[in-house]
Amino acid sequence: RKYVYDFAEGNKDLKDLLGGKGANLAEMTNLGLPVPPGFTITTEACQEYLATGREPDGLADQVAAHLAALERAMGRCLGDPDDPLLVSVRSGAKFSMPGMMETVLNVGLNDRSVVGLARQAAGSGEQADPAGADRFAWDSYRRLIQMFGKTVCEVPGEEFEHALDDVKRARGIRDDVELDADDLRGLVDAYKKIFRKHTGRDFPQEPREQLDLAVRAVFDSWNAERAVLYRRQERIPASLGTAVNVVAMVFGNLGPDSGTGVAFTRDPASGAQGIYGDYLANAQGEDVVAGIRNTIPLQELERLDKRSYDELLDIMARLERHYRDLCDIEFTIERGKLWMLQTRVGKRTAAAAFVIAGQLVDEGLIDLDEALHRVNGAQLAQLMFPRFQLDHEFQAVARGIGASPGAAVGQVVFTSARAVELAAEGKRVILVRRETNPDDLQGMIAAQGILTSRGGKTSHAAVVARGMGKTCVSGADALEVDVPARRFTVAGQTVAEGDVVSIDGTTGNIYLGEVPVMPSEVVQYFEGTLDPERTDDALVRAVHRIMGHADQRRRLAVRANADTGADAARARRFGAQGIGLCRTEHMFLGERRELVERLILARTDDEREKALAALLPLQRADFVEIFREMDGLPVTVRLIDPPLHEFLPPLEQLAVNVAVAQERGEDVAQEEALLAAVRRMHEENPMLGLRGVRLGLVIPGLFAMQVRAITEAAVQCARDGVTARPEIMVPLVGAVQELETVRAEAERIIAEVVGGSGVEVLIGTMIEVPRAALTAGQIAEAAQFFSFGTNDLTQMGWGFSRDDVEGAFFWRYLELGIFGISPFESLDRDGVGRLVRIAAEEGRAARPDLKLGVCGEHGGDPDSVHFFHEVGLDYVSCSPFRVPVARLEAGRAAV
Ligand code: ADP
Ligand code: MG
Ligand code: MG
Repeated sequence: RKYVYDFAEGNKDLKDLLGGKGANLAEMTNLGLPVPPGFTITTEACQEYLATGREPDGLADQVAAHLAALERAMGRCLGDPDDPLLVSVRSGAKFSMPGMMETVLNVGLNDRSVVGLARQAAGSGEQADPAGADRFAWDSYRRLIQMFGKTVCEVPGEEFEHALDDVKRARGIRDDVELDADDLRGLVDAYKKIFRKHTGRDFPQEPREQLDLAVRAVFDSWNAERAVLYRRQERIPASLGTAVNVVAMVFGNLGPDSGTGVAFTRDPASGAQGIYGDYLANAQGEDVVAGIRNTIPLQELERLDKRSYDELLDIMARLERHYRDLCDIEFTIERGKLWMLQTRVGKRTAAAAFVIAGQLVDEGLIDLDEALHRVNGAQLAQLMFPRFQLDHEFQAVARGIGASPGAAVGQVVFTSARAVELAAEGKRVILVRRETNPDDLQGMIAAQGILTSRGGKTSHAAVVARGMGKTCVSGADALEVDVPARRFTVAGQTVAEGDVVSIDGTTGNIYLGEVPVMPSEVVQYFEGTLDPERTDDALVRAVHRIMGHADQRRRLAVRANADTGADAARARRFGAQGIGLCRTEHMFLGERRELVERLILARTDDEREKALAALLPLQRADFVEIFREMDGLPVTVRLIDPPLHEFLPPLEQLAVNVAVAQERGEDVAQEEALLAAVRRMHEENPMLGLRGVRLGLVIPGLFAMQVRAITEAAVQCARDGVTARPEIMVPLVGAVQELETVRAEAERIIAEVVGGSGVEVLIGTMIEVPRAALTAGQIAEAAQFFSFGTNDLTQMGWGFSRDDVEGAFFWRYLELGIFGISPFESLDRDGVGRLVRIAAEEGRAARPDLKLGVCGEHGGDPDSVHFFHEVGLDYVSCSPFRVPVARLEAGRAAV
């Protein structure tokens, strides 16, 4: 088996085998760019090592062979006492992963080769600088012992830092660069002692042993605690393993004509074109990110070293053309010679993703189909949240994990009870906890946002907040939360109950004080208040263009869930092509509740009919309003679904009221009747009780009244020149007989009301009970359309109640990896999705023109939209705000 690849043997498509870093180093090498030579040990070698606990057979020999080739290419031997070749050992998995072993630089240095390195670095003739070279060599050596000790042998890093501080204090200097060769030589001795104290052995002098130990440490770091945690959160399979890159060292710390830097080919924050990067002269690799010294903007390199600068810009342009995308790079200049040390397709913000995709289309590097792949619905959703308007006066005090997006501002509170109290006074609050638990639920509902100091993306706080659509920052471990004292401290400041903070659930940033919030320009665009042809906002123009292409490409129609005229109007502005779910229960609330009470309490047919007759015109008016807004587009109206007792006062409250009134000797006949009704209708499992079609079959006249109101409203619209296209949807059907019974009555009423108006009314059903999905062939005989109610289908398919489980145990399931993601957030393809697929296939087989849609929350979830596209549905329906997301994802699914 081949475990080692020379850079010249790989390419960018071998990320699985060579890791991201290795594959891209190979790609750059083959492009002819100046990459120091080296080789990559494969992820397969790592997998075998982790499975068996030892390096696979043949690995050592292959490393030896590639090392020998590297030595020939460089004309030096690893650790040679006279003129040593040094290498870096770098981890690099398929996905970049914090928590894994960092890089060890300068491998190959030892007590003898450090002298050779100094002699070679000194140069000769006029340029010779033996003192500087000596310093450089010893500095490199002490760095090796430090990095090697820390990352390979787990020596506590502070010990090295303390030793360094001691030397600086003794010499009365502040900056590392002021240390001279003697100081550094002394430091090497101190470091070696520390090394021996912690490992029980001397720092390894044998270069090949250094190399082998470092490689093994990279393998082991795949299972470091932080790496495991990160993988679980990001859903990266634990089986991938990491590759190891061995790269010939080049030195940015050889003097003022050397240096090191990082750069992006465009601005990763805004997507703007230009030169974005930092440079540090006379420094080695990690000094740039470590912030030890102040970097300069990359542009200034032009002044320092024009030749290298021009070459770098040239390479950056080439890389962009080659990868056809934004790249980020690491480079080093050694005495005026430029070396490329890393590149990859760079991470970017959601806004930059759209802007860059648009630019690349303009530049002819990608087409619009490809642009659709470069963005996604999650990014679009992010751009639709209001944002903080961050002036320089606001600096984040800490950063946690962006667990649920949004921008929330409020006074901090530390208990659920206090959150509820202050919210009741109309105050905006942020609930701050170490971590939340089910007892915090009321407080979470009352708060604008939730901030915790522990836990990741799958913590209780994160899961519940996402379910509520509430802003949440979790795991901000810089916060010391003291609940009893009602305060937290961060960065040396104390924040007490009542103080205002602002939290950004997208970036995870936390600010003290009130940061102004501004509306999203992308939403303004969708609302129609920002004209994409007129604005100079690059983001809006890019979104407009890409959305246009998604609309052109998608096969799935997108409808909205909307219950009122206002919602319907907004949905239409956002691009909805109809209403997929108009719930009617809200039409029974408010002042109409009394009419519902009368309906429920009716003792005679006459009383009941009177109550229904009073509801009819009210419902009709609701429908007229919605049909007008959706003129020409289909509107699916769901007949009343929830159990009727939801419209009555809660049992305990009523019982208390009655008892109190009785005590006072008041006349309570009316209340007692109500109480009796509430008792009669009480259900142990309302979710599985008298609701949906069951209600329609048990309460005479209820569905009939609704069907009449819908049809009359449509006829009235037709008279006014508005085209209403109602689709009547019967909820919770499990057997075709239920639907047939409802349908017979409905058809009678429709025929009677429609007359010669030309109005057409469809009758169909929700598929949300597993039995309905499994008998879809039968049900299709009586239905003109199916709409998958994936919320209920998920509840009933799994047998758990959404309202109860998210706070109770879902977070634990996510933590244990039983779920990758909540099945209410994203459709469970294997189980619930299978039901959808069966029903779609068997329904269509029975009735080829059966219309198929989905109206659960999954209709706006990116991943689920792709699934609905695959199983051949006609449309998805989701909340108005999610309509653009669904349009985009439906387009992405089609290309
Ligand atoms: P990370 O993934 O943390 O960036 P890298 O492996 O890229 O780790 O290396 C860390 C730093 O060391 C980077 O700045 C990189 O450019 C530098 N570096 C790595 N290998 C070499 C080398 N062979 N010569 C000089 N600098 C190097
Ligand atoms: Mg790097
Ligand atoms: Mg339902």
